[in-house]
Parts: sequence; structure tokens; C-alpha cells
Amino acid sequence: MTAVQVPGVPVVDNGLLISTNPATGAEAGRFPVSDPAGVAAAVRRAATAGDWWAGLGFAGRRDRLLRWRSTLARRIEELAALCHAETGKPVADAIVEVITAVEHIDWAARNARRVLGPRRVRSRLLLVEFGAHLEYQPYGVVGVIGPWNYPVFTPIGSAAYALAAGNAVVFKPSEYTPTVGQWLADTFAEVVPEHPVLQVVHGLGDVGAALCRSGVGKVAFTGSTATARKVMAACADSLTPVLLEAGGKDAMIVDDDADLDAAAEACVWGALTNAGQTCIGIERVYAVDAVHDRFVAKVVERAGRLTVGADGADIGPITMPSQVDVIRRHIDDAVARGGRAVLGGPEAVQPPFVHPTVLVDVPEDAAAVREETFGPTIVINRVSDVDEAVDRANAVRYGLGGSVFGRRRAVEAARRLRSGMTAINSTLSFAGMSTLPFGGTGESGFGRIHGDDGLREFGRAKAVTRRRAPSLMPAMTFERTPAQVARLVRTIKAIYGR
Ligand code: NDP
Repeated sequence: MTAVQVPGVPVVDNGLLISTNPATGAEAGRFPVSDPAGVAAAVRRAATAGDWWAGLGFAGRRDRLLRWRSTLARRIEELAALCHAETGKPVADAIVEVITAVEHIDWAARNARRVLGPRRVRSRLLLVEFGAHLEYQPYGVVGVIGPWNYPVFTPIGSAAYALAAGNAVVFKPSEYTPTVGQWLADTFAEVVPEHPVLQVVHGLGDVGAALCRSGVGKVAFTGSTATARKVMAACADSLTPVLLEAGGKDAMIVDDDADLDAAAEACVWGALTNAGQTCIGIERVYAVDAVHDRFVAKVVERAGRLTVGADGADIGPITMPSQVDVIRRHIDDAVARGGRAVLGGPEAVQPPFVHPTVLVDVPEDAAAVREETFGPTIVINRVSDVDEAVDRANAVRYGLGGSVFGRRRAVEAARRLRSGMTAINSTLSFAGMSTLPFGGTGESGFGRIHGDDGLREFGRAKAVTRRRAPSLMPAMTFERTPAQVARLVRTIKAIYGR
């Protein structure tokens, strides 16, 4: 590649990756590109650093991670400005993103010992002569591969938990957001200057692929479903375990007893924040017939008020220029197939911006209903009741998040949605809830970040048994007698055979 041509499209020039603002083309940063040998060297350095980091113990790591959290909190405007410069997202959206990341670092640091530390486990009658212990030991080095849409929140969702668990991390940021990735590693090095516990390797997809094959103990990937397949295939060769946080097509259900103003407000934010470039963004709404028209009117009124632009607007540019074509295709296809644009529409696509677009009556097999759009568009379709809404919501291959607005049947509907997370009477709220696991099912991937499960994701369960007394009924020895085996049989029948 040669020097910058299209605003927002990163280029490699003379071995340097250059990222630019998608709205203005202004350079955001330039960094040396790595290669397989560079990635391997980083992983080797990380292995040594990881041993040292693990040796700090939970208390030592907690202290360092809390200092890193404080750095992010103190310098929140600086990090948000970098995020804005590199992705084009509104500064306010970037601030919210950093706040969420700060919360996750804090929680992971404070809870790692409770979740992962050594603890006694009760024995059962059959092996009562043994004591049992369980602990979760670090993998050593975790490779984190991140996307551009939330360049702070998504890598920290993996990295903070992996670090709290005692791993070193080698992080490959998206080629669109290397500056933010470098800032995270640099500030971490300020509070952990001794060893490179959190390193960044820059480059394009091939650098991510090299990281998958580098011998790391685990790969935590966040990105598209298509790349997730490649990551899993690359990791299969060496049986490297993977955590896959992939794409989504999240649905919102609006029941007839919902607070329609609250639902419309949450829908507009959940669908249009970050210009709709949100893995857990609301892309489809199923509103029951009795409230459908009123709900649509409220959404259109609110979405129509939003401003679009490079600076100070509610909605910024589309970060990845090629995504504009996907958004355009989904809108055109929906309209060509009988859908109606009640706000925006084909003319809303004005690269690098896309104005809010609300589509109704879109056929359920249209791309705008089935594929990830990743733009500021909302499809609102009419359903007869909540059962039909759940069936339609569950009819796609993705299963990441979702939302239900209503009262009587909201909890039941939330549980029936085939997804990893559902927000009742809000949207996206589960992402900031550090006590809850975050992740999907189906083509949205598997494994969990955040919460207890998110910590366990970055530790290997290590089980230890210890003899406390001689066995009354020795079974696991060639020294057993026929009489002892017969007694074992009688005991098992008495306990379990009834
Ligand atoms: P991509 O899948 O294009 O890229 C994700 C990361 O993988 C990037 O760092 C990319 O590098 C890297 N990569 C590319 N090719 C390979 C490869 N062969 N092996 C290893 N790594 C590779 O996703 P986007 O960056 O476009 O992010 C948007 C997607 O992320 C959406 O689908 C969104 O839904 C999803 N996402 C999911 C989340 C979740 O938690 N489930 C959260 C946020 C986003 P490079 O950029 O240099 O190509």
C-alpha cells in the first residue's frame, strides 16, 4: 500500500501503519507494522513478563490494575479525544465507552482472587477420605484481537480480565484504531514499568493470524463472524483455546403494555449510538400491533432530531468506509422488496455519513433483517403478539443481545430470546454491568467476558485431591480384595440404586 488516499482507510507506508480520521482524513497516528517474527518475539517477551506478573499474586496485580484504572479515569478526555480522532465517533460516545472500561478494570481487579483463587471444595461420600482444592491458573500469554468500533471497551473487556487472572497480554488492535491500542499499552507500562505485561502488535489481518499461530495459551477475539471462523481455524492446528465475541443482529420487542416513550428513547439510543456500529446495537424491532404505529411515530420523531456530522453531532461518520456499501445495500434491498423508509432511506447515505433511517414492513428474509447492517438504521416490523416477536427475533443465526419493553410478559420473553444477554426496559445496559457475563451464542460466538465467567475464561481450572485418611473401600488399587469390591457394590446399590 502507499500513503493515505481515502479518509479513514488505514494504509501501510514504508513499514508504518497510518490511521486517519474517517470524516476529515487527518492522520491519527503511525506505528511500525509487525510480522510473524515480530509477533513471535513479542509472545516470547510476554511469556517471561507473564511469569513475573503471575508471581505478583492477586494483591500485587490488583494494586497495579487499580492504578491503571485511575490513569484512564484521570485522563478520560485525552483517551476519548483519541477515540474520536481515530473512529470519528462523537466525543460523548467515547466518554461513555471509557467509563465502561474503567468500571470493568476496577471490578476484574477487585474480584479475581474471589473467583480464581485457591479454595477448598467439599468431597462426596464415595471419596470422603480425600480433601479437594480448586484454583484457576493463568494461561501464561493471552492473545487479544480487537475490532475498531469500541477500541477501548472491547479489548479491555478481555485484557483486564486476562491480566487480573495473571496472564500477560499481546494485543492486536484493529488496523483502524492502532493509536488507541498503543495508548492503552503505554499507560499500562506507566504503572507496570518492570516488564512488558501488556504489549501491542500492529498491522493488518495477517498480524492477527500470526498471533493465533504464535503459541499463546489462549486467543480472545472480538470482531466479525467471518474473521472469527478464520481465527478458530488457525487456532485449531495447535488446539489453542479461543473465546469468540462476534457479530450480532439484536432485536428489541415492544409489548402492548410497554412505556412507549421510554421504549422509543431507548430504541433510538440502542440503535443509533456510535452510528449503529455496535455489536449489541438494536438493528430490528418487533412491536405488537396495538402499539406499533404509535411507537414508530415516537421513534421517527426522536431519530429525526439527531444531528449528523464530524464534530459535536449526535451521529458521526461511518468509521470503515467499505461498510457504507453494506448499509446502502441493506436499505436499497429493503425498499425494493416492499419495505418503507419512514425516516431517511436511500438518500440518507451520504458518505462518510449515513443519516438515521427507520424502515417498516420489511420482509423477514431481507438482508436488513437477517444480516448485520452496522449502520444507523432500524427496521421496525409489526407482530401480532409477544410469541410471534420472540419467534421472529430468534429466527436469525446470530444470538448476541437484545431488549424487551413491557411489563407482564417481559421477563418471560427475555428468557426465551436466544441470545447471551437481554435488557428489560432498557437497551445495552448489560454491557456496563461488570458483574454479569457478556457473550453470545450461534454465529455471535461463544465464551464469556465480564463477570465471574469472564474471569474464569482466562484461567485453567486446576483440580487437586489430597488423601486425608486410608480408604475404607479401596477401589483404585490392585490391592483390593473380592470382598471389598462386593462391599463397594452393596454400598453403591444402597446409595444410588433406590
Ligand atoms: P474484523 O473481523 O474485520 O476484525 C477484527 C480483528 O481481527 C481486527 O483486529 C482485524 O485486523 C483482525 N483480523 C483480520 N483478519 C484476521 C485473521 N485472518 N486472523 C486473525 N485476526 C484477523 O471486525 P471489525 O474490526 O470490522 O469489527 C466489527 C465486527 O466486530 C462486527 O461484526 C461487530 O459485531 C463485531 N463486534 C463484536 C463484539 C462482541 O462483543 N461480540 C463487540 C464489538 C464488535 P485488521 O483490522 O487489521 O484487519
